[in-house]
Amino acid sequence: MLGFGSKPRICIVGAGFAGLNAAQQLKSSKYDVTVIDSEPFIEWLPNLHEIISGRKDGEELKLSRKRIMARLGHRFCQKTVVDVSGTSLLLDSGDMIAFDACIIATGGLDDFSGVPGANQFAHSAKNVAGCQHIAKVMRRATLGHRTLKVSVVGAGAEGVEVLGEALRAYRHRPQFEFQMIDANKHILPQCAGNLDNAVRRHVDKLSVDFRMGNGVASVEKEGLYLQNGKAIESDLTIWAGGVLPTPLCNASGNEAFPLRQRGRVSATFQSHRFESVFIVGDAAEMPSFMAKEAFHAIDMGRFVAMNVERLLSGKRLKRFDPTTKLQVVSFGDLDTFMVFNGFSVSSSMLGAAKEMVYTLGLLQLSPPTNAKDFVNTLDVFQRSMRRVYLPTLNPVSMMGKLTRARLFT
Ligand SMILES: Cc1cc2nc3c(=O)[nH]c(=O)nc-3n(C[C@H](O)[C@H](O)[C@H](O)COP(=O)(O)OP(=O)(O)OC[C@H]3O[C@@H](n4cnc5c(N)ncnc54)[C@H](O)[C@@H]3O)c2cc1C
Repeated sequence: MLGFGSKPRICIVGAGFAGLNAAQQLKSSKYDVTVIDSEPFIEWLPNLHEIISGRKDGEELKLSRKRIMARLGHRFCQKTVVDVSGTSLLLDSGDMIAFDACIIATGGLDDFSGVPGANQFAHSAKNVAGCQHIAKVMRRATLGHRTLKVSVVGAGAEGVEVLGEALRAYRHRPQFEFQMIDANKHILPQCAGNLDNAVRRHVDKLSVDFRMGNGVASVEKEGLYLQNGKAIESDLTIWAGGVLPTPLCNASGNEAFPLRQRGRVSATFQSHRFESVFIVGDAAEMPSFMAKEAFHAIDMGRFVAMNVERLLSGKRLKRFDPTTKLQVVSFGDLDTFMVFNGFSVSSSMLGAAKEMVYTLGLLQLSPPTNAKDFVNTLDVFQRSMRRVYLPTLNPVSMMGKLTRARLFT
């Protein structure tokens, strides 16, 4: 059993938006914090799809967890957690780590909804490596004359962002045909205002088909079958079907938190299973619906750190009250939607807002600590300036775009 020091021991499993923000709130002078993640880098998920068009290469979306933890004075352990009890964690190496309180922030996995072949033949756009692979297949297709049929499964925010980036780079190439598929009849059904029409009108002269109202029944190497039995050819199927909370499985493959109880928490984020274990971010199944979004994960991470401190000092836990946040959904260079509670606004100029969140977010997670870091940060800013701010915000392009801003209620 690994145990460290005499301060209260806090383990954080998963160092994504929720886990890292929780870690940032906990002072190393007061607590012995160990952060565990299977992967060495945090990936900035909201801008991942830009790798598909080549606007980002992927490396600038990654930050070293070890460095972030070193700056906070916490310990980083690159391992996979395979089991959790009320007092300790079991790692895939066989080691155990004892804790006084634990935060599980293991995020979500692709929701393939049990569709046969989806896991094997469809490509995920939920990580840098997946998007780099999709980008490579599309780039390669430009070298030949053969048509590449690209299918995006899922017409929610992720699907729209993926399709938008693919269109940004390849809509004028004759080799490409695109289709978007969803069981729902409408594009962006969760967003206020009828954004379905707004998306469609941008592509009515392009080679894009929408096959809405029919779910995917199975995926194969050469294509997919819809639930109505129709077969669709597809050379590149991209899965954008939402997320399921990541299960924590023990070495024999059994879930440490069984499916029915997985991630279930009260409004204080305390798990139903152990009072010393809290679950936050996409991994949490809240009493009421909350969108699986980074801004909620960040708020939850910050809040749960406070509740862990309260638990350790014997105080009553507080209930989380989510604030309403606006969501930005980009559709490549064709449009960007800002979704509020009850209405949406569209303008391609809003793309610069998303880039600003990205550049400031990276800076906040990993502020430069030396001259070399500072030069790297300037480099990121310079790239954003060249690729996004200047093309979007220069006065000439603004004149054209301002007239195209629209309100959807
Ligand atoms: C492509 C894409 C685009 C998105 N765009 C937006 C957007 O524009 N705006 C927005 O607000 N949100 C967006 N989101 C959603 C947002 O990124 C998530 O809601 C957010 O990342 C959830 O944070 P989290 O900390 O719960 O989980 P994650 O960020 O997924 O982090 C979970 C971490 O846990 C680790 N982990 C999992 N299991 C284990 C284990 N057993 N042991 C150790 N480590 C483990 C994983 O390696 C991972 O690092 C997007 C998501 C995706 C995938």
